[in-house]
Amino acid sequence: MQTQTASHFSIEPREDRASAERVAEVLAAPAFGSVFTDHMARIDWDAEAGWHDGRVSAYGPLSVDPAAAIFHYGQEIFEGMKAYRHEDGSIWTFRPERNAERFARSARRLALPEVPEDVFLEALRALVELDQHWVPSAEGGETSLYLRPFMIATEVGLGVRPSRSAAFLVIASPAGAYFASGLRPVSIWLSQDYTRAAPGGTGAAKCGGNYAASLMPMAEGQRHGCDQVVFLDAVEQTWVEELGGMNLFFVYEDGSIVTPELTGTILEGVTRDSVITLARERGHQVTERRYSIEEWRADAASGALAEVFACGTAAVITPVGRLVWPDGEVRTGPADDAGEVAAGLRRSLLDIQYGRAEDMHGWMHRLV
Ligand SMILES: *Cc1c(COP(=O)(O)O)cnc(C)c1O
Repeated sequence: MQTQTASHFSIEPREDRASAERVAEVLAAPAFGSVFTDHMARIDWDAEAGWHDGRVSAYGPLSVDPAAAIFHYGQEIFEGMKAYRHEDGSIWTFRPERNAERFARSARRLALPEVPEDVFLEALRALVELDQHWVPSAEGGETSLYLRPFMIATEVGLGVRPSRSAAFLVIASPAGAYFASGLRPVSIWLSQDYTRAAPGGTGAAKCGGNYAASLMPMAEGQRHGCDQVVFLDAVEQTWVEELGGMNLFFVYEDGSIVTPELTGTILEGVTRDSVITLARERGHQVTERRYSIEEWRADAASGALAEVFACGTAAVITPVGRLVWPDGEVRTGPADDAGEVAAGLRRSLLDIQYGRAEDMHGWMHRLV
């Protein structure tokens, strides 16, 4: 059946693709986000023509006017997804409608045009189909093809207003485990001087600007021997929100689980939502509520708090072993491994994503 030809994207394969040897070399030891596949998807938008001129063509530098809005006023949003190869060779992605929906919400907040869901999904499918030999084999364990959809404002001119043109692109990069250290618990620095998101700001949008603002506190954390930073709410400096790019879960001795509720300043993770569902199915009582930094410190110190973990598409589920602040620290969970609950949820999620467990929720979406 030729249903795929009614497409928003023309396919323009490049002549000079990477050799089979080069692809094999990259797939043997994929890093995170450092090598990209042969092609990229792109579709342009302007206020008059709408979305037009979609194509999948050679990956390469963009030609963008130096006065384009993206360089001056930061109108940029992105998504992070993965393509997983199953044992039978088919290639799938996880809950992509969620990412399409979130991308549209991010677009509205940044005054960018919304990409219709069918265009968003078609861009992923067309790119992955053309570059399918870049998707690591099922045996790789946790290897996948990381997909990075993003949008930039391209209107030329320094006038401050929503850009009247934009480009939506998707690039792809073979990925191994996100943290080179594997499941080693990470140390988290408590950011005291900086916040990530304020009420009414852009915390719930996935935009580059949020990340730009998190880099300095992250470097500060690294100077204190930490891997990641946790941000508190901007108003009371009391409530735990999330890491720079991952949501947080707190597992208690009695099996109950708490995760910070969505307040508009937390990014609504697809992994977060999936973990809540899986944890409830495994019999955990999961509560979404405000969770204070004092509760974290006190319950870790008393031993009531059994595990802490962070989650997101790139790193899946990562145990948090230590919370560190300028004059102290507390530990949670095993020193050099994931706790039982985090490890179990991680396995369940990966089994669904890699097609090793039945997809009871209709979460998987076939690309190729
Ligand atoms: C992307 C992101 C997450 C994780 O979202 P997933 O959909 O699970 O990948 C969490 N927090 C922030 C700030 C993010 O940008």
